[in-house]
Amino acid sequence: MTARIIDGKQVAAEVRAEVAARAAALAARGRVPGLAVVLVGDDPASAVYVRNKAKAAREAGVRAFDHVLPASTSQGELMALVARLNADSAVDGILVQLPLPSSLDARPVLEAIDPAKDVDGFHADNVGRLWSGMPRLVPCTPLGVMRLLAHEGANLRGASAVVVGRSNLVGKPMAALLLAADATVTICHSRTADLAARVAGADVLVAAIGRAELIRGAWIKPGATVIDVGMNRVGGKLVGDVEFAAAAERAAAITPVPGGVGPMTIAMLLSNTLDAAERRASG
Ligand code: NAP
Repeated sequence: MTARIIDGKQVAAEVRAEVAARAAALAARGRVPGLAVVLVGDDPASAVYVRNKAKAAREAGVRAFDHVLPASTSQGELMALVARLNADSAVDGILVQLPLPSSLDARPVLEAIDPAKDVDGFHADNVGRLWSGMPRLVPCTPLGVMRLLAHEGANLRGASAVVVGRSNLVGKPMAALLLAADATVTICHSRTADLAARVAGADVLVAAIGRAELIRGAWIKPGATVIDVGMNRVGGKLVGDVEFAAAAERAAAITPVPGGVGPMTIAMLLSNTLDAAERRASG
């Protein structure tokens, strides 16, 4: 069997076109949606992410407010900026790029963001809402994975879904979304005994680990749907957490790296910004 390759670029383009139409409809009512992107320090990877997010926002008709602060910024200064953005009626979404410099504590900053503007979905209110079956703003990467699974027509009800990774960013919200879609969910992590056996039981596998090709192709259940969130740089090349070529021999469908989950994350960030903007415009 050779798997279908799930085209994240194409699905992300569809999401971005939907966002552009929604942004134009709001703008026609005199209400241009706005996204504030905050970058502290000079981590080069973060600078690229932030630039790409702001560029994608502008292309979709979302006003992007860039706030680039020096690494020497104090906790108080950053909290004050968040407070100003919370109060700014032109700002519908606030994103603080992680990781912050080690001198700053991210948690209080994330908790200071107005939950209604928390387009990353990391605020404890939004986390609790997701797990309580009242989702509002949901983390972008897992949301993008759900969109890919929907696009694939993957059957989640009663399916065995295995998530490898339990971060707040990806693994945990991913598990919550799959559970809400009636999958039977197993969450694996670095202390899991016999990862291979867990993976072998998965109808749907989501790998969010950050270890190049840790998931071996031979572990994959024939006919499974495989979503690879991992992004690992190996010898100047980007590779996922799944041994792609061997896994594609067994899976029914699989995301490539790059070109799978990656493009979905920014698309879902814009989609969340429109959700927040529409809710604020109607409230
Ligand atoms: P993270 O916070 O480092 O979490 C990694 C998770 O993997 C942890 O839960 C860890 O377990 C688990 N893990 C590590 N080694 C393991 C092993 N040998 N066996 C089983 N589990 C293991 O990373 P993250 O933020 O969730 O990101 C995961 C990956 O996705 C990274 O490659 C990242 O670059 C990528 N990513 C991609 C996108 C995208 O847009 N495509 C977005 C976000 C992240 P413990 O909890 O026990 O330590």
